[in-house]
Amino acid sequence: MAGNFTFAIVKPNAIRTGKTGPILAMINEGGFVVSAMKMVYMTTEQAESFYEVHRGKGFFTELVEFMTSGPVVVMILRHENAVEEFRKLIGATDPEKADPGTIRKTFAISIKMNAIHGSDSDENAVREANFFFAEIERY
Ligand code: UDP
Ligand code: MG
Repeated sequence: MAGNFTFAIVKPNAIRTGKTGPILAMINEGGFVVSAMKMVYMTTEQAESFYEVHRGKGFFTELVEFMTSGPVVVMILRHENAVEEFRKLIGATDPEKADPGTIRKTFAISIKMNAIHGSDSDENAVREANFFFAEIERY
């Protein structure tokens, strides 16, 4: 299945401002099929573990605080060449550098509160999907 799916999170800033629906519409419009989805409220330990690769960086503590500041929506999304196609749809990490029409350009507030997460490799898509979902929860 690797290559055919990616993992995404609608981040707390987007949930708070009621943008979950519009973001899901853009994901749907982009041709992605929702394979699994749920709303979760991450603990500090979960957020630290999810973003383990960034531990020690200047933004790590603030990132963990942000990602635990409210509920998020986690999803597995199916599409051909899903990781790369989804990164194109969400745009650059920094919304100021994101292309017009991307999810981040449309909904991000800042580089931290950038509305959405997308896996950066097939290997990480597998890791991140397994972090939140059991095999039986996937369509
Ligand atoms: N982030 C931040 N400040 C930075 C870089 C990243 O707050 O200078 C946050 C931002 O929410 C980003 C997340 O940390 O989405 C993970 O960073 P990464 O470099 O992996 O960016 P992404 O893969 O999400 O585009
Ligand atoms: Mg990343």
